[in-house]
Amino acid sequence: MLYDVAVIGGGPSGAVAAAELARAGVSTVLFERNFDNVKPCGGAIPLGLIEEFNIPAELVEKKLSRMRARSPKGRVIEMRMPNGYVGMVRREKFDSWLRSEAEKAGAVVLEGLVNTIRPSANGFVISTLNDKVPPVEALRIIGADGANSKTADELHFPANELKVIAMQQRFKYTPSIRKFSDIVEIWFDGEVSPDFYGWIFPKADHLAIGTGTEDNKYNIKALQKRFIQKIGITDTPYLDEAAKIPMKPRKSFTAEKSILVGDAAGLVTPANGEGIFFAMRSGKLGARAMIEHLKKNTPLKNYEDEFRKLYAPIFFGLEVLQAMYYRNDRLRESFVAICADDDVQRITFDSYLYKKMIPAPWSTQMKIFSKNIYHLIKGS
Ligand SMILES: Cc1cc2nc3c(=O)[nH]c(=O)nc-3n(C[C@H](O)[C@H](O)[C@H](O)COP(=O)(O)OP(=O)(O)OC[C@H]3O[C@@H](n4cnc5c(N)ncnc54)[C@H](O)[C@@H]3O)c2cc1C
Repeated sequence: MLYDVAVIGGGPSGAVAAAELARAGVSTVLFERNFDNVKPCGGAIPLGLIEEFNIPAELVEKKLSRMRARSPKGRVIEMRMPNGYVGMVRREKFDSWLRSEAEKAGAVVLEGLVNTIRPSANGFVISTLNDKVPPVEALRIIGADGANSKTADELHFPANELKVIAMQQRFKYTPSIRKFSDIVEIWFDGEVSPDFYGWIFPKADHLAIGTGTEDNKYNIKALQKRFIQKIGITDTPYLDEAAKIPMKPRKSFTAEKSILVGDAAGLVTPANGEGIFFAMRSGKLGARAMIEHLKKNTPLKNYEDEFRKLYAPIFFGLEVLQAMYYRNDRLRESFVAICADDDVQRITFDSYLYKKMIPAPWSTQMKIFSKNIYHLIKGS
C-alpha cells in the first residue's frame, strides 16, 4: 500500500499531525512503537492549548492557577494567574486520546518500532520490528519520534544539540503530602538542579516531583534524591521515570520530502522545558505545510519558516533568561525576587497561557529593567 504520508511516532506532535492530514483527505499512516507507552512527563499544559485543540474536560485532571517559586535560601513567592490556569494531564491517557482522534479522522494507526526508512522510487519504505506489520511505502515522512528520533538519524538531519535529562517520581497522596495537591511549586535551587529547576506538579491521585539537568553533566538520580529529601518526603514513589528533553531546535528540521516535528525537531523551550504545546503546534503547522506541498508542490521549508517566525522570539527570550539567571544560586535568588513583581507575573502568565509576546507599556518595561539591575547587583 502506498500512503501519501507516514508519520513516525504517536505522541502529541505525531498524533496531531496525522489527524490534521487525515482530515484534509491525505492518506496517512501513523506508527507508534507502543500503544501503552507512558511518556515521562510533568503533563503541564497551558489553557491556550486546551482551547485550541479542544481537549476534553475529563483529560484535564487539575486546573491550577496558583504557583509558588522557591529560592535557594527558601524565599517563597506565591503567584496567581487571574486569567487562566495550567492544566494537568496524564500522558498515557492524553496521548492515547490524541491517537484515537487521528484514527477517527481516517489515519491508519499501526503499532511497531520503526527501525529503517529506505529511499524508494515513490518516496520511502518504512519497516518496523513488528513481524505482523509489513513494510509500508509513503511519498513523504513526518518524523515525530521524540528526542532520540530514529527518523532524524535515518534521514540525516543535523543533530539535536542540547539535551537535558529529566527525572520524575510519582507519589500516591498520603496525609503528609496532600498539602501540595492544589498548587504548582517550582524550586530554583542549585542543590536541586545546578542548571535547570525542580517541580512539584499535583495530579488527581498523585504528586509528580521531578528535576532536570544538562545531559551527562551531573548525576540526575542524586539530584532527585536530594530534592525529595529537601521537600521532606519520606514516602516511597510508585513510579520512577526519566527521559531526555531537547531544548534547542535542530539547525534545520525540514528536507525536500520530510520534516521533523516536536521533540524530534528539538522544539522545547529553554528555561521552562515546555514541549507539549510546541509539539502539537509544530504537528499542526507541519501537517498544513505538507498538505499544501502535496497539492501545490510548495516547499516543505515553509513550515520551518513559519514556526521560527512565530516562536523564535519566545525561544530566544527564554534562552537569555536561562543563561542570565540559572548559573548560580546568587542569580537564582535574584530571579525569584523579581518574580514577586506583579507586572513580571502578569507578563509571564499572559505569554505562557497563549504563547503571545504582548509588549508591556514602556513605563512597565523600564520598571522591570530597573528591578532586574537592582536584584542582580544586590543578589537577592
Ligand atoms: C520528565 C519530563 C517532564 C516534562 N514535563 C513537561 C511538562 O510538564 N509540560 C510540557 O509541556 N512538556 C514537558 N516535557 C516535555 C514533553 O514531554 C515533550 O516535549 C513532548 O512529549 C514532545 O512530544 P512529541 O510528540 O514530540 O514526542 P514524544 O512525546 O516523545 O512522543 C514520541 C512518540 O514516538 C514514539 N516512538 C519513538 N521512537 C519510535 C520509533 N522508532 N517508531 C515508532 N514510534 C516511536 C514514542 O513511543 C512516543 O510515543 C517533559 C519532559 C520530560 C522528560
